[in-house]
Amino acid sequence: MGIPSFEPIAIIGGGAFGLSTALELIQQGYTNVTVFEKDEEIPSRWSAANDLNKIARAEYEDDFYTDLAVQAQNAWQTPLFAPHFHRVGFLNCCSGAASAKAVDTCKRFQASAERHPEMKKYVKTINSADDIRATTWQFTGELPGWKGYLNLFDGYVHSANALRSVYKKVRAEGVRFFLGADAGAISEIVYKDTPQGRRSTGVRTKNGRFHPAALVIVAAGAAATTLVPEAGSTIVAKSWSVAHVLCTDEETSALRGIPVTYARDLGFFFEPDPKTNLLKLCPMGGGYINTDPKTGLSQPPQSPAESSFLPPGDEKKLRELLRQTLPALADRPFVRKSLCWFADTSDSDFVIDYVPNTSSTVMFLSGDSGHGFKLFPIVGHWVRDLLKASDNKQSITRWQWRDPKNQKDAGDVSWRVGDVTEFKDIRPVAGPAKL
Ligand SMILES: Cc1cc2nc3c(=O)[nH]c(=O)nc-3n(C[C@H](O)[C@H](O)[C@H](O)COP(=O)(O)OP(=O)(O)OC[C@H]3O[C@@H](n4cnc5c(N)ncnc54)[C@H](O)[C@@H]3O)c2cc1C
Repeated sequence: MGIPSFEPIAIIGGGAFGLSTALELIQQGYTNVTVFEKDEEIPSRWSAANDLNKIARAEYEDDFYTDLAVQAQNAWQTPLFAPHFHRVGFLNCCSGAASAKAVDTCKRFQASAERHPEMKKYVKTINSADDIRATTWQFTGELPGWKGYLNLFDGYVHSANALRSVYKKVRAEGVRFFLGADAGAISEIVYKDTPQGRRSTGVRTKNGRFHPAALVIVAAGAAATTLVPEAGSTIVAKSWSVAHVLCTDEETSALRGIPVTYARDLGFFFEPDPKTNLLKLCPMGGGYINTDPKTGLSQPPQSPAESSFLPPGDEKKLRELLRQTLPALADRPFVRKSLCWFADTSDSDFVIDYVPNTSSTVMFLSGDSGHGFKLFPIVGHWVRDLLKASDNKQSITRWQWRDPKNQKDAGDVSWRVGDVTEFKDIRPVAGPAKL
């Protein structure tokens, strides 16, 4: 049924989902919105979106998300977001050595792009290295057996800068922020029992201060289950690697405008960032989880420093990716290496719903599953719609709170390639991570 516009709303997490929500709430006329963020500044070191760039591709195998991504792509072209949106195209391919699963996935992505009325005219089939060089002459590698498609509807977004812009905007419009390990980090959501059932009364920060709230919105990314442990059978903190190559000014200039380049069996990379000369790469793989043997929950390690490395298997994939595309960079040292933690669900669907048994006082925005940033401009719309629902029910079935007895198998998600590995088995310093 929503809440009156003057009532206090607490958003936990100043990452992608939290900031988009703050923006929408302020635009809807809510006047008492506070964001709590555990880092000293935004973008936060814990945010999966605190990154040079994220792929903004609109085609999904599933038309539901394609429609959302097209909507978001249009929103990225509006004044607040446009400086961060770079429509350089998306080269989505498989190398000749890719598995049948990767090839099939790539074909389904192409079919999805080709059946969308707005997108189809931007798609071109790639059958050979020469087809790639026809538009991306910079790739001097052999591109052995590369096949797939180029979609010029897509590109990338500068995610850290987009977070900065929205942060600045919502602050200027009256959203309050509490930042830092004491004043900004939430230690618990506070509840009371009433004759009508349990309800939240607000949140408590690590320094012990209680902040009353009529509605608590949990947008804590990979750390969501530290605050809402009952989501633990649905939300799994998972990570993928990120690494960068430092280019020269000349290389950055020469690589200007190359498409986001993805070999589904190896990984992907972006054009170098003109300010830092960093070319960002991510390897393809099943990812890493950090399961606490006591609780069975996977949560991110406590300090970002624990995740500042690149597992050797991932390094090998990225070197091969560069050898096949930009061999001059293949042996260059990797810099700014890290594992980036996100909130995964077994079916890759988000969870956008009230937490059960909270009398609709706690809303949960999680399960981004590693594909949420492209939707940054429209995440807040989903909160608005849920607030407006007269029965307080999420009408989009796939985003409802999941019944733990009814979880899908992780094997259902076709675009995932590779096995999931425990963080303790790859971290350079042996032993369990601090939780
Ligand atoms: C390697 C990698 C590559 C990705 N690539 C893409 C891509 O190409 N395209 C795409 O669309 N998406 C991509 N994503 C996914 C995207 O980054 C996420 O979907 C998005 O960041 C999710 O937003 P969020 O707000 O849920 O979480 P986050 O952005 O992680 O924000 C959560 C915030 O909550 C804060 N927080 C946590 N606990 C507390 C607490 N107790 N108190 C206060 N604050 C707290 C954190 O500090 C953080 O700032 C990628 C993710 C990774 C890891």
